[in-house]
Amino acid sequence: MSDLVSLTIDGKKVKARKGATIFELAKKININIPHLCYHESLSIYGACRLCVVEIEGRPRLEPSCATIAEEGMVVRTNTARIRRARKMNVELLLANHPEDCFTCDRNQICELRKLSFDLGIRELRFEKGRKYSYSIDDSSPSIIRDPNKCILCSRCIRVCSEIQSVSVIDFVNRGGRTQVLTFLNKGLNNVECTNCGQCILACPTGALREKTVIDEVWEAISNPKRFVVVQTAPAVRATIGEEFGMPAGSLVTGKMAAALRRLGFDKIFDTQFGADLTIVEEAHELVERIKTKGVLPMITSCSPGWIKYIEHFFPECLEYLSSCKSPQQMFGAVAKTYYAKKIGCKPEDMYVVSIMPCTAKKFEARRPEMKDSGIQDVDAVLTTREAARMIKEAGIDFINLADEGFDEPLGISTGAAAIFGATGGVMEAALRTAYEVVTGKTLEKIEFDIVRGMEGLKKASITLNGLELKLAVAHGLSNARILLEEIQKGKSPYHFIEIMACPGGCLGGGGQPMPTNLEVRNARAGAIYREDEAKPIRKSHENPAIIALYKEFLDKPLGEKSHHLLHTSYTKRKRY
Ligand code: SF4
Ligand code: SF4
Ligand code: SF4
Repeated sequence: MSDLVSLTIDGKKVKARKGATIFELAKKININIPHLCYHESLSIYGACRLCVVEIEGRPRLEPSCATIAEEGMVVRTNTARIRRARKMNVELLLANHPEDCFTCDRNQICELRKLSFDLGIRELRFEKGRKYSYSIDDSSPSIIRDPNKCILCSRCIRVCSEIQSVSVIDFVNRGGRTQVLTFLNKGLNNVECTNCGQCILACPTGALREKTVIDEVWEAISNPKRFVVVQTAPAVRATIGEEFGMPAGSLVTGKMAAALRRLGFDKIFDTQFGADLTIVEEAHELVERIKTKGVLPMITSCSPGWIKYIEHFFPECLEYLSSCKSPQQMFGAVAKTYYAKKIGCKPEDMYVVSIMPCTAKKFEARRPEMKDSGIQDVDAVLTTREAARMIKEAGIDFINLADEGFDEPLGISTGAAAIFGATGGVMEAALRTAYEVVTGKTLEKIEFDIVRGMEGLKKASITLNGLELKLAVAHGLSNARILLEEIQKGKSPYHFIEIMACPGGCLGGGGQPMPTNLEVRNARAGAIYREDEAKPIRKSHENPAIIALYKEFLDKPLGEKSHHLLHTSYTKRKRY
């Protein structure tokens, strides 16, 4: 029996594997069927009824996302009846939607707004329905939920449960009172939400957005008493160009540094400096744990969404986490101690801004333990999207900026730090250093291809001085759960595990430009690896600024000062 079916879509003969949907097949022949609740990475929901098509012999319009192609089907995707139905569905959504487009965060990229335009809706035919007014959830330091702009597509619910295995939001009530809510409407900050922001990326409207700190950052920049330094995460240089219309995969390190200097920051530094420092500490911690038969596997700790997840869902596994702070927080602690002293600035006069691909970093910076400089180590965290908004607000012609460099010394970094932005990158960077620490030999082939790529769960092993080191890399929290369940059962064969909360790692973070999908993530990863290849130094422990930091200030990896400034502890959190 053949595994293929033949059908006709809009007069075109199509051959397809059994099980394919009409929606997928239409896309393959360049027909983009309008949709709202469909999302390529999520299960089918089939509720918005925008993707309806006509199938010969069937009286009703059928949702193409939920209809499997059958032998001999004759499908039409664009008839007067279909256009009327789609238009009507969007008009009904608009009848129950605030008219806030001017001030809405999604103004330029809202799928609902675009659909309403594309479907030719130029007037609101229906009177406003009985509109309930819901309170906005701004309990989280990372995310704001505005249920008034929610169209009940369930994309946030599905990403939170299917990709992130967190499930803190769901539908409550029925009919016109249906809402997406947290458990007992406690607010995102008071449940197990990891602040990952994947729900923001999935949402087609302005119902979910990051909590912005743009005004605070402008205020700090214009305050003459403040010395404002900015650090930019590895993944931001590979994505921020998209906010200015550049294609995914554009590497804009030099333009980004130039734009930030024009915004008025006093020093343009690099979280990659913090990443090199993290690697030196983390590689030594791994070697130490192996030598002393300490707790293994050791799990990376630089992704704050992942940290919050393990704290809630696997609190008994916290001892497996590396005690290293994330690069953002190592940078903040070093900036307000070592660097502040070097330039004669009081730590309280220094204001550290981070530009991150991540909404969870906003939460991380506010953790009470992140005050090792004596005050809050990082003052404000902007997402990539917020940084781009500031550049636009300042009228900077980003695309035509000439490249500029970072300032020294906290702007000096290696290729190993650059790859932190991609899944597998922290593991690869740590192996480049651990290999040389353990063997005392120079690593000839610097790339560890075995931990690269977008597979959700990667497993590998390498031999270090006769010891077979077993490795695992997971991105997306549902993949992390698989590895944690193995540890819980005492069945984990690994020595070293890298986990990043977001699909693709930081390059797919919740603060990144939209859309973020697999194709875009792959293009961004290419940019990150190009940044690594172009660096003259590609191993963290060879970064001259890090060598100087140890010589002048920290003394040695895992030393007393490092323990105080660069390492942290975790909190057992409850389930609701
Ligand atoms: S969510 Fe979209 S349609 Fe609604 S106010 Fe915002 S931009 Fe306008
Ligand atoms: S931020 Fe992440 S964990 Fe929180 S609701 Fe959104 S998807 Fe779920
Ligand atoms: S918050 Fe956004 S993603 Fe979630 S159901 Fe509402 S519109 Fe859909």
